[in-house]
Amino acid sequence: MIYDVIFVGGGLSAGLALACLKHRRPELQLLVLEKDPHLGGNHTWSFHPSDVDQASDVWLGPLISRRWARHEVRFPEYRREIASGYCSIRSEAFDSYLRRRFGDAIQVNASVRHFSREHVELEDGTRFQARCVIDARGQFEATGPLGYQKFVGCFLKVREPHRMKHPVLMDATVEQIDGYRFVYVLPWDETTLLVEDTCYSESPALDDNGVQQRIEAYARQNDWGESVVVHEERGVLPIPLRDKLSHRKDGVAQIGMAARRFHPTTGFSLPNAVRTAELIAGVPEPGRMAQALRASAAVEWRRGHFFRWLNKLLFWGAEPHERFRVLQRFYRLPEKLILDFYRGDISLLGRMRVVAGRPPISILTLLRHLWERGQNDLQWR
Ligand SMILES: Cc1cc2nc3c(=O)[nH]c(=O)nc-3n(C[C@H](O)[C@H](O)[C@H](O)COP(=O)(O)OP(=O)(O)OC[C@H]3O[C@@H](n4cnc5c(N)ncnc54)[C@H](O)[C@@H]3O)c2cc1C
Repeated sequence: MIYDVIFVGGGLSAGLALACLKHRRPELQLLVLEKDPHLGGNHTWSFHPSDVDQASDVWLGPLISRRWARHEVRFPEYRREIASGYCSIRSEAFDSYLRRRFGDAIQVNASVRHFSREHVELEDGTRFQARCVIDARGQFEATGPLGYQKFVGCFLKVREPHRMKHPVLMDATVEQIDGYRFVYVLPWDETTLLVEDTCYSESPALDDNGVQQRIEAYARQNDWGESVVVHEERGVLPIPLRDKLSHRKDGVAQIGMAARRFHPTTGFSLPNAVRTAELIAGVPEPGRMAQALRASAAVEWRRGHFFRWLNKLLFWGAEPHERFRVLQRFYRLPEKLILDFYRGDISLLGRMRVVAGRPPISILTLLRHLWERGQNDLQWR
């Protein structure tokens, strides 16, 4: 049998593409090959509803585990509630929904040893043929300097209802350690909270013990009473400061993190993965998907110039313990601008508003860093 599309890797980007294609192009023969026993790994993927087109809700909606109507941010000098929603997808729910609905198109425990544009071979020697093979293995290869967004998240079960109504995306009133530090809280149900200790740091190393203690201290400070950790997740996301667009030399199409399809400043890839899924579904002939993906990767990457430039301001313009000032100032901007920023689609006027005014960083520190790293970095790109 010749498949129309085979995805190598069954994580976020391939799972979303599968759900979208099954809805929009039910005639296609699809196959997702995942090396692990489950799709999606161990993640809680979150996004703002405005990050994705409403039209995608028809296939994305059933994957969403939790929705909230508003969210909040907290800084030392400023606190704000934002009347825009927030959504999360748990990877267990992602795996069970996709396997229940589209099990015939999914093989788990299927580790791919080799693949090319039209062929795939598993470690056990099984071979498959397709009109289009898509690399969705999630491995990002850096071409320039990186910062990191790193976090450890604990699902805490508390004895009494915690009374939190909506997520706190950034609580930066906490002690600033290891760069820009904040706590991210999702009230999952009445007695369960996901509490993530997050840093924008120069180093990818996670200080596990320190983080656990800080999460416990945060729980005490919020009077959540006795709590037990029922589940844990962790991540280290690349925050590129300078980057080059690269494609696989063998012409195999790529999606997800491996294709640099993520927001350079937040490190998040779900909004981009939804756009990519819709893009693939709109290509009439599977043999042309690789070409369409390549063209759109260049457009997405150009969109990222401004955000990579902002990353330099954050990492090179502010001393680590002063970085929160950049975000504190950002969150004073109009709500629409904040949401456009997260969506990764911000107008020229919007960009000017983001950087206008008295900078919360030291221009001297920034210029010194930039000068040390080469004059190319002085450009707005
Ligand atoms: C803990 C965590 C939380 C995150 N939270 C968010 C969030 O809230 N919002 C957001 O937008 N982004 C979030 N991200 C960032 C990003 O969205 C995720 O990393 C996302 O999973 C990337 O999707 P992907 O499809 O590119 O890669 P992955 O989801 O990592 O999928 C790659 C898959 O390929 C499989 N694979 C690899 N090699 C092979 C092989 N040889 N054969 C077969 N299978 C293979 C892997 O096992 C894996 O399942 C988070 C990341 C982490 C780590």
